[in-house]
Amino acid sequence: MSIRLSGTPASPGVSIGPAFLLNVEEIRVKKRALRTPEEVEIELERFSDALVKTRGELESISDKISDVIEGQQLMEVHILLLNDPSMIADAQNRIRNEQVCAEYAVSRVLYEVLERFNSIADPYLRSRAVDVRDVGRRLIANLLGTEREALVSLRNPVILISSDLDPSQTAGLSRKQLLGIATDLGGSTSHTAILARSMGIPAVVALKDVAEYAVPGQTVIIDGIHGNVIIDPDEDEFQYYSELKKRYYSAEAEIALNADNPAETADGTPIELSANIEFSQEADQVSRFGGYGIGLFRTEFIRLLSPEVQDDEDVHYRAYRHVLETLNPQPVIIRTLDLGGDKFLDSIPTVEKNPFLGWRGIRICLDRPEKFTNQLRALLRAAKYGNARIMLPMITGYDQVIEVRSMLRSIAAELDREGVPRGDIPPLGIMIETPAAVLGIDLLLPHSDFVSIGSNDLTQYTLAVDRGSPYVSKLFDSLHPAVVRQISIVARKCREAEKWIGICGLMASDPLAIPLLLGFGLNELSVPITLIPDVKEIISVINMTDAQSLAEKSLTLKSSDEIRKSVLDYVESKYPDIILDEIHRDKIDRGN
Ligand code: PEP
Ligand code: MG
Repeated sequence: MSIRLSGTPASPGVSIGPAFLLNVEEIRVKKRALRTPEEVEIELERFSDALVKTRGELESISDKISDVIEGQQLMEVHILLLNDPSMIADAQNRIRNEQVCAEYAVSRVLYEVLERFNSIADPYLRSRAVDVRDVGRRLIANLLGTEREALVSLRNPVILISSDLDPSQTAGLSRKQLLGIATDLGGSTSHTAILARSMGIPAVVALKDVAEYAVPGQTVIIDGIHGNVIIDPDEDEFQYYSELKKRYYSAEAEIALNADNPAETADGTPIELSANIEFSQEADQVSRFGGYGIGLFRTEFIRLLSPEVQDDEDVHYRAYRHVLETLNPQPVIIRTLDLGGDKFLDSIPTVEKNPFLGWRGIRICLDRPEKFTNQLRALLRAAKYGNARIMLPMITGYDQVIEVRSMLRSIAAELDREGVPRGDIPPLGIMIETPAAVLGIDLLLPHSDFVSIGSNDLTQYTLAVDRGSPYVSKLFDSLHPAVVRQISIVARKCREAEKWIGICGLMASDPLAIPLLLGFGLNELSVPITLIPDVKEIISVINMTDAQSLAEKSLTLKSSDEIRKSVLDYVESKYPDIILDEIHRDKIDRGN
């Protein structure tokens, strides 16, 4: 029987394919009966191959940590457990006598051994059950091919199922291997979701227990439009979602035909519609999707993707130069490293209880000026090749902007002394991501050349809702009056000070937020590349004067539901069906 789960839609689209489990704590193993003596032989061979592979892995870990005595001892214990003749014989007997596949036989042996451990009185010995479990899991993982190496070498693409994925893992995956992503944790603005959108891979997050239900190899449907995941679909469900998939991609193809049209409202107001990128190569796609420049280059992904490059100035320089040259003379907003929060590196401690309130973004950069200098040097050198702008994340006070400006001046002088070619110091802007930046906007604007609203963090910090937690994802709402009002304040102050203002959080591609953002007078919307055609279509059916009245009215409404309804009443007859479908995600379910 199929299992249907609903979570938070994180990247639109529909995909159908076999499940691949990654980082799943308890590996669920499906019983597969063996019918012939040949099949039994094959399973016995798979079992002994997996034993060899697992032993090799444990030995190589042990070699790598040869200077850590405790670690090495632990690995030796694991190797001993793996070589335990009674466990091996037990598993082989089950394959032969019960005629079941190797992974099922191992899982049964493991289960019984763990049960025996549980009843041991001595607490120390009982606690060693973790070692048995680790070894067993490793062995089963090798039999099932559930590890990351296996994913990389897969021939056929899969649906990736995981309890959680950190952005560096997602960044390392090839889009050719991935049909879709489903995770237990995460929210629509968590960085794994952001990456899925930038890769154009349908994803659903915050499913809470998808990793528990899914079995490797089983057919899974990801409906990233409405946030549904169906495990082991029945014939009707399979038909329904195959149809939905066809309908979605043909509507998208039609919308993409308008990529060359200018981004302007129905009554002719031009809007800058830019791209958010995480990888420098994405710059090559911007014009194909009809975007204008880059509104946010999340440079920390250069480091997350290849931690070994760390702060290598040349690696950063080459990445920035590529993006700037590709898009020249269009503007490219390069954001300085925004590590921390849910973007960790080994070099950053993860002991903080509240990493989103901790050492993150500009705070890390200013605390480590020698490393930050490398990024700023790379930026100034690359600025020679295009229309660069520098943007600072997580700003809470004007002193931070002043400090960076003075660093830029002295780094420029240093490059000149060294005779290293560089561009002019680019305009320096700030992200509005904290209520402190909104309330202190008049203090910040004199020091900032432009601003861009980071609505993901502004929502998180305003509503005190962790953007990555599935338990509070229903409360994460950028159309909450408290967020909408802050955007209106910042937009007004920018207009008064004649400063350029954009938005680069997910809200910029939300069909119900767009009319308000235009109405508040934002100059730019910056969205994931794959969503540019949809957003352009949306902009083209909105009247600026209507948008202004909607924006004004939203400031008088009491809740996000009221705000949503007010915009919906306006767009209902205007938006293409496929977009309305997305908006009505609660109602649009199978059979409705
Ligand atoms: C934001 O916070 O809205 C933003 C664009 O930055 P990030 O999502 O990378 O935190
Ligand atoms: Mg942010």
